[in-house]
Amino acid sequence: MTTPTIELKPSASPLSDTEREAVLANPGFGRHFTDHMVTIKWTEGRGWHDGQLVPYAPIPLDPATNVLHYAQEIFEGLKAYRQPDGSVATFRPDKNARRFQHSAHRLGMPELPVETFIEACDVLVRQDQAWVPAHGGEESLYLRPFMIGTEVGLGVKPSNEYLFVVIACPAGAYFPGGVKPVSIWVSEDRVRAVPGGMGDAKTGGNYAASLLAQAEAAAKGCDQVCYLDAVEHKWVEELGGMNLCLVYGNKIVTPSLTGSILEGVTRDSLLTVARDLGYEAEEGRVSIDQWQADSENGTLTEVFACGTAAVITPVGTVKRAGAEWNQSNGEPGEVTLKLREALLDLQRGTREDSHGWMHRL
Ligand code: PMP
Repeated sequence: MTTPTIELKPSASPLSDTEREAVLANPGFGRHFTDHMVTIKWTEGRGWHDGQLVPYAPIPLDPATNVLHYAQEIFEGLKAYRQPDGSVATFRPDKNARRFQHSAHRLGMPELPVETFIEACDVLVRQDQAWVPAHGGEESLYLRPFMIGTEVGLGVKPSNEYLFVVIACPAGAYFPGGVKPVSIWVSEDRVRAVPGGMGDAKTGGNYAASLLAQAEAAAKGCDQVCYLDAVEHKWVEELGGMNLCLVYGNKIVTPSLTGSILEGVTRDSLLTVARDLGYEAEEGRVSIDQWQADSENGTLTEVFACGTAAVITPVGTVKRAGAEWNQSNGEPGEVTLKLREALLDLQRGTREDSHGWMHRL
């Protein structure tokens, strides 16, 4: 695999410092993008080439471009955090780089070298570091690397050329008013991913497939959808954009990676942090009936969802066809909050990085 260099072609920010500060005061999520982006091309026979850091701009595409018809697209999501000394560090970018390779393989796309993925993120964050929120709060800079098939033509086949892009946006605190439990709709008919499908790849199609179920959940007054396995409609898998963890006193259980679940970086990190904090943490199978029964008999003490966006989100009300229960009296649980604080402290640089997870720029 060739490792391309990334040529720097920056330009002055279109925003004044005051305008940028105004955005950073209330960034929301995915609404305002930083001044630049990194692009790298791949062409059959030539490999990776033309790496560039350029001003953020629209990407012109021919109407017959592969991605617009057959959805050859993959993406990632990771964050950069301001450290106490003012420097910036990303969290486990190597994990995202490897998952990106895994997704590329599943979609018949070329694999970007891990070091190029990390370098592309570094170059963008270095250039646009004025967009990384100040140290101390829960704000961060969210990085969105993605890759699309750019061959022009309607033949159903892997594209013979690709565009890899990294863009970034400031992300506000997920819970500005304090951590609040989310309500969950358990979808027992619609599935997110099937065995042998694309569930463990981070590709747009999985998210397109989740939108109707998400709208149905919203119509039932719920924030998120919980998906079950596609064969028996029995085993708990994950939410549309987060993994799930169940807390039994001092033991944390998360559904095993079956191939139809996305291998979350947060999930993996929490299994380790939980053990660091003295909890038992394991992967296993949990059925929705078991979840309901254990919640009702009190052995299941807390449930939380985890992912890059919110770090940890407590689960409150759970609804399924014909039943509804309130997990942990609808309050964020003690273990949930402890794990959340520990992981956030690590990312903000105020807890010792004993696993070498922070990548300093
Ligand atoms: N599952 C799905 C379907 C997701 O989209 C995400 C977000 N990437 C996650 C789990 C959590 O993954 P991570 O912790 O790497 O953000």
